[in-house]
Amino acid sequence: MAHGRDHRTTGMTEKCGVVGVSLSDRDAARPLYYSLYALQHRGQESAGIVTHDGFQQHSHVEMGLVGDAFDAADLDQLNGQTGIGHVRYPTSGGVNASCAQPFSVSFKSGSLGLAHNGNLVNAGEIRSELEALGHAFTSNGDTEVIAHDLARNLLEEDLVRAVKRTMSRIHGSYALTIMHDEAVLGVRDPEGNRPLCIGKLDDGYVLASESAAIDTLDGELVRDVAPGELIVLESDGSGFDSYQLVDRDATAHCFFEHVYFARPDSIIDDELVYEARRDLGRELWAESGIETDVVMPVPDSGRSFASGYAEAANDDGADVEFAEGLMKNRYVGRTFIMPTQDERERAVRLKLNPIRSTVEGRTVTIIDDSIVRGTTSTQLVDLIRDAGAEEVHVRIGAPPIVAPCYMGIDMASRDELIAADKSVDDIREIIGADSLSYLSIDAIADVLGRAKGDLCLGCVTGEYPYDIDGESTDRDVSRPVVGSESAPAGD
Ligand code: SF4
Repeated sequence: MAHGRDHRTTGMTEKCGVVGVSLSDRDAARPLYYSLYALQHRGQESAGIVTHDGFQQHSHVEMGLVGDAFDAADLDQLNGQTGIGHVRYPTSGGVNASCAQPFSVSFKSGSLGLAHNGNLVNAGEIRSELEALGHAFTSNGDTEVIAHDLARNLLEEDLVRAVKRTMSRIHGSYALTIMHDEAVLGVRDPEGNRPLCIGKLDDGYVLASESAAIDTLDGELVRDVAPGELIVLESDGSGFDSYQLVDRDATAHCFFEHVYFARPDSIIDDELVYEARRDLGRELWAESGIETDVVMPVPDSGRSFASGYAEAANDDGADVEFAEGLMKNRYVGRTFIMPTQDERERAVRLKLNPIRSTVEGRTVTIIDDSIVRGTTSTQLVDLIRDAGAEEVHVRIGAPPIVAPCYMGIDMASRDELIAADKSVDDIREIIGADSLSYLSIDAIADVLGRAKGDLCLGCVTGEYPYDIDGESTDRDVSRPVVGSESAPAGD
């Protein structure tokens, strides 16, 4: 895992990564495969590619990591110069192949493939409506709902209008790559919650969740797909058309993409993630710095924060050593079997080991990007004290997570989130730290150069940019009304 963190101990996982490719004179399968490798950190449970050779669609979707899901023969049968791909970590509905993507379907006016990153808030309503109209669903995922809605609209409208109509009906977070016959499309929800960008290759164009996938193909980042924009790649790889289908006054970019999910070498919404994390670390020092002998990142997630924090500390005249004092065992993977609760608690010892000479007899600050359940932080503080640290302080490069995510991040439920009903001082006591501070929401907005009203901050405020049952909103927003009167008439 690129982040080096296991969701079973952190409780926070990105669910998906998407990609789409259109090339002038070579098959898209291998570039798609390499792009999925670059996006592996966004989903490890299944991987899939759908291509189109001008006559028919080809599809290969498997459970497992990208490297295990495809062999050379699989790639060889994925003919065609256009295609889309997906990596997924499913949560609702469990781990099963019917939820793996891209989702593909053939219907009266052609074939459709869909790869989705995000989560719809009103998929259930649209599904019920379509079921009543005779649509049969094979999975319980919301991607199939988008596919059926789009397929239905394509019977009556041209491609652009059909996408616009579907966008007017679905509510929630989505970055999509879509194949309609050999055409590759990219769509980003009107709030731009999940990232999507366009890249140029020598012989074509690529759409991807993160620019690191474009780098992998030796391409150049052209720009982010705008919130509410539809991009249609030319099927011969010669360019793309843009349609701004929905305009909103405000965006709702997921700030956690910058803090945790995205690769540090990706540029998201015009900002290099590594620099943003370093700047967040500098702000963390400005807001709650404490001079200790040594500053250590929790690998790998805390690294950029800790280097910014230590640099700002030393700029301020503090004498702080930045040290990689926690060594990670890279071979403890997600398949690791922990039979008992007691052994589960030892998992951190298997994954991380402190370098005793770095911490013994010294005051230490450990830096991470977030605390979800608090289990890992408790174990880390113990570990460092056991290795002889005199004091252990904890600094976190994000605000406390007080509420769940409904937009496609597998985080934890409210009763599992340590900050949902506890003060920072209660948490400090539970994890056993000498001091604990989180970064403020204002600092996040400042560093990302956005107004708070242009970010999704749902999990740190409990107020969401979408209309979610039982939750409050941070803006004037309501779900589209779906029902028989808004559905296209007949097939
Ligand atoms: S609730 Fe949190 S994790 Fe989910 S989209 Fe919003 S900012 Fe991102």
